[in-house]
Amino acid sequence: MLPSAADLLHWYDRHRRILPWRALPGQSADPYRVWLSEIMLQQTTVTAVIPYYERFLAAFPDVGALARAPQDRVMALWAGLGYYARARNLHACAQVVAARGGRFPDTVEGLLELPGIGAYTAAAIAAIAFGRPVVPVDGNVERVTTRLFALTDPLPGARKAIARQAMGLNGDAPARARPSDFAQALFDLGAGICTPRTPACVLCPWRDACAAHRQGIAATLPRRAAKAARPVRYGIHFCMMDGAGGLLLVRRPEKGLLGGMMGLPGPAWRDSPWTAPDALAHAPTAPRLCPQWHAVGQVRHVFTHFTLLVDVYAARVKTFPNSLVGAQGMVHRVGDGAVALPSLMRKCVALAQSAHVFD
Ligand code: SF4
Repeated sequence: MLPSAADLLHWYDRHRRILPWRALPGQSADPYRVWLSEIMLQQTTVTAVIPYYERFLAAFPDVGALARAPQDRVMALWAGLGYYARARNLHACAQVVAARGGRFPDTVEGLLELPGIGAYTAAAIAAIAFGRPVVPVDGNVERVTTRLFALTDPLPGARKAIARQAMGLNGDAPARARPSDFAQALFDLGAGICTPRTPACVLCPWRDACAAHRQGIAATLPRRAAKAARPVRYGIHFCMMDGAGGLLLVRRPEKGLLGGMMGLPGPAWRDSPWTAPDALAHAPTAPRLCPQWHAVGQVRHVFTHFTLLVDVYAARVKTFPNSLVGAQGMVHRVGDGAVALPSLMRKCVALAQSAHVFD
């Protein structure tokens, strides 16, 4: 039996979160804001996203402004949020929407045709911004559903079956009358009450309908299959600074992790550790440049599918030869904020600076 949508909506009307992208009661949601927040929220928490969202909105108040912005500016405002392909897709999507007169498609199918919009995001925008009666299934909704029906098959194998069940949660009339609120009520229930470790079942509007609560197994769900250990990859990056505090940076290839972002020079990451001679064979070179490289330590950075260990080498030179800058990268003055460095690269620079090679 379905839990009562009316009970959930009644709870939501009293306890809804106030979020900067969320319309106030009685107002209609702005598709641009909903889309922007949903892209930012992929793989990132609400707390982390809010300052980025506010900076983006101040810089690009509508989809046309975002579409017209240079990609470097978009990447600079995104730097730190990670998963940079999202920022590139965000920009590409803004350009497609701007070319349609600034109007987002108002159906799941139409939204799915836009760059960077997958099944979840399309459903979220369709429900929240356009009132389509669909249930977007994110991690919160997945967890609530697993518990409501006491689904014990482990993730990730059970994910599709759980999603199918979740998509039917809006089967009764009150949910269909308020699709936008119903979707957001599910998000809020998962984020605030049906939390991963300690669900607050006593406060839950769906307590009476919840099988996991009845069986006393709520906190153990959803179950997860044992995870394979995250593989380790190895990188080398070279941090070269000139007498005026400029850093040698290169633009990373468009494809792949941190694609299109600025970074420290270095060879492609690989599956086996580097020896010092191996590593130094890849150091930036130019005629009449003889930098003294210092191994300053290792940076550990965790990506979704692997852990990266980067050996950092630092050197100080008086000036960068033009040939080096022209051929291999560009110089950026530290601290001028004009270049967006991903957090991995910022960690490498900080490590080099802390080793006092540049003093
Ligand atoms: S009763 Fe508890 S486990 Fe069930 S949906 Fe509510 S908070 Fe989650």
